[in-house]
Amino acid sequence: MLLSIVTPFYNEEEAIDAFFSRLTGLLDRTLPAYDFEFVCVDDGSRDRTLEILKARAAADARVRVVELARNFGKEAALTAGLTVARGDAVIPIDADLQDPPEIIPEMVRLWADEGYDVVEARRADRSSDTWLKRFSAESFYKLNNAIAETPIPENTGDFRLMSRRVVDVINALPERQRFMKGIFAWVGFRRARVEFVREQRVAGSTKWNKWRLWNLALEGITSFSTWPLRVWTYVGAAIAGLAFLYGLILIVSTLIGGRSVPGYASLMSAILFMGGVQLIGIGILGEYLGRTYLETKQRPVFVIREIYGRGEGGQQEAAHGGAPGGAGQT
Ligand code: UDP
Ligand code: MG
Repeated sequence: MLLSIVTPFYNEEEAIDAFFSRLTGLLDRTLPAYDFEFVCVDDGSRDRTLEILKARAAADARVRVVELARNFGKEAALTAGLTVARGDAVIPIDADLQDPPEIIPEMVRLWADEGYDVVEARRADRSSDTWLKRFSAESFYKLNNAIAETPIPENTGDFRLMSRRVVDVINALPERQRFMKGIFAWVGFRRARVEFVREQRVAGSTKWNKWRLWNLALEGITSFSTWPLRVWTYVGAAIAGLAFLYGLILIVSTLIGGRSVPGYASLMSAILFMGGVQLIGIGILGEYLGRTYLETKQRPVFVIREIYGRGEGGQQEAAHGGAPGGAGQT
């Protein structure tokens, strides 16, 4: 049985050594019956990450390095890693060791002995995060799970184990907008869960600023729900209903009391409010239209520049790229 450890690396030169020493030590000790491959995706790093990874691959036949042509972002890097991975089970894990590899043996046990296709790693608490990050993450899950067709389990990241079946399904999904958490949840299958406590980064700093996180959240919601598009019908209907009632009140009070023109304030606020509501509605249309546009271009999710390492020969997939899967794809 082969297990693939899939890791995206973006400017992680300081973390690589700690990553490999902790993982190889642990896996050799706890799972001697399994073969491993480390699929390391270099997501267009600008530091020495690629160089160090290539040296690793040269020294250790289990390490394969996928060099992307530029920085495509974590979701695309992970997608690339999943396409290249050949294991019977695949475990995506971050390079910075924030996901403790110590729970991998338990994940493997649930998969191998109890037949689960997906073993999720769930963060037992987020005390290592700032208040703002915790609050925004919680709001995202609440909103998303209220409106999305498949709920995303809370506090569950990309760290998980997936059987070959599941990975094949994910690789065959033709969509270009890849919100991996959502895709992982969408595929379903029998799921188990292991809890862990998220640690601090071993080295380097987070690659996500607030703006990137916000965009990731938008990506997630628009990828799995059309509720924001549809809600405007109801908002519009409600406002129109209220406006009608207000009109009636105005007519009646004018007939009875013979009131004259005052009402500048209410007029202005109604106009401004409606203008704002319409712009929000158009903006949301734009979010979806933009994504539809990108999706119709059918551009690949990532471009592989080269694959290093002694997998079987013939791995000249350079510049193949593309939404993975191949099968039946145009
Ligand atoms: N990462 C990547 N491409 C990017 C940003 C991040 O491949 O554009 C990788 C990064 O090297 C790490 C993982 O994604 O292995 C998680 O990133 P990070 O630790 O910065 O995110 P956080 O843990 O703060 O959510
Ligand atoms: Mg991290």
